[in-house]
Amino acid sequence: MPASYRADLHLHSSYAIGTARDITIPTLAQWAQRKGIQLLATADFTHPRWRAHLQETLQPAAGELFSYSDTRFVLGAELSCVFKHAGKGRRLHLLVYVPSFTAVEKICRFLERAGAKLAGDGRPLISLHARELTAEILAIEPRSIIIPAHAWTPWYALFGSKSGFESLEECFGELAPAIPALETGLSSDPAMNWRVPDADGRSIVSFSDAHSPRNLGREVTAFQGPLTFAGLATALREERIAYTLEYYPEEGKYHATGHRACGVRYLPAETKAQGTACPVCGRPLTVGVLERVEALATEPAVSLRADEQGFLHGANGRPPFKHVVPLMQILAEALGVGERTKSVARAYTGLTDALGSEFAVLLEVPVAAIADTAGARIAEGIGRMRAGDLAVDPGYDGRYGTVRIWPDET
Ligand SMILES: [Zn+2]
Ligand SMILES: [Zn+2]
Repeated sequence: MPASYRADLHLHSSYAIGTARDITIPTLAQWAQRKGIQLLATADFTHPRWRAHLQETLQPAAGELFSYSDTRFVLGAELSCVFKHAGKGRRLHLLVYVPSFTAVEKICRFLERAGAKLAGDGRPLISLHARELTAEILAIEPRSIIIPAHAWTPWYALFGSKSGFESLEECFGELAPAIPALETGLSSDPAMNWRVPDADGRSIVSFSDAHSPRNLGREVTAFQGPLTFAGLATALREERIAYTLEYYPEEGKYHATGHRACGVRYLPAETKAQGTACPVCGRPLTVGVLERVEALATEPAVSLRADEQGFLHGANGRPPFKHVVPLMQILAEALGVGERTKSVARAYTGLTDALGSEFAVLLEVPVAAIADTAGARIAEGIGRMRAGDLAVDPGYDGRYGTVRIWPDET
């Protein structure tokens, strides 16, 4: 594969609601190293205290990026747009990247004038139409990169079943061509996205949306070309992507359609037969990502071919991708303990210290070498993960799905 760098460009600081408390630039950089990620988004550049932390800790690096230790950072944020369109309430999240703190300051001043409370949630609520916001940000800094976040989640997403749109053009109008990419979110993978007309000519990117440093890289995109802001913009515009690493989409919490309180879960065939009212309580089911893709798709499901390394390729020439299971999850199942236990932490540190990084362990290091370091059971788990030899049970209505490597053991 040609040279590439792994990037995780959707994450959050401790200033975003619902995130861990220990998120700082040094801890993010440290975890990125351990995971094998070269470029991170700073996240949350709209928050004044986080911005001060960014200015204190980051060094300017070549190509309008920033660095801390060996990790590069690009200035980024997620904005939560809440507005009305065609008489209906809409909510969607946008990822924004800019090349300079000057652009950051100008965007923050504009958002404050528009009534946003930037010192609250690090993922601020903006009461502007996504199209207007995009136009303003591009007017402030024409090189800004704007990407709809987790494009399919029912709430807060461009194509979401609850408050989204039917197409990019419906939302962004004449600015639709300025949107270079769609973020898959945990509940969808690139092959699902390829079926939708808006995916044509756009990159399909995958990032973690991590709310704590340990979750960094649960999805990443490996970009080709120079590791600079301009290089990133070009890679997005021209889909210069070596591969993406994906969660099993079934594991995402909005994959299937259903109603969590009533324990009802439908796959598209069942929705077709039964409709989208809950058979228990009669309320509408939360329409999941799988169903929503089916509704907007104009192409049939793409058949995929796996190469020797387990990367999946469509016949359409688009970048390959691979479903992976985070190493801590594999270790927890192998050891029969919780993910946040000392034994998992010890095994994780031991393996990554000895063999390079989490992605080296998950993707590259021979299984025999893993067995020498961590024992046969863990090596078997990683081997099975690489081969896709595992059982998945889809998530729905806010409840995560599960992936089991040894489904027959309890
Ligand atoms: Zn979001
Ligand atoms: Zn119900």
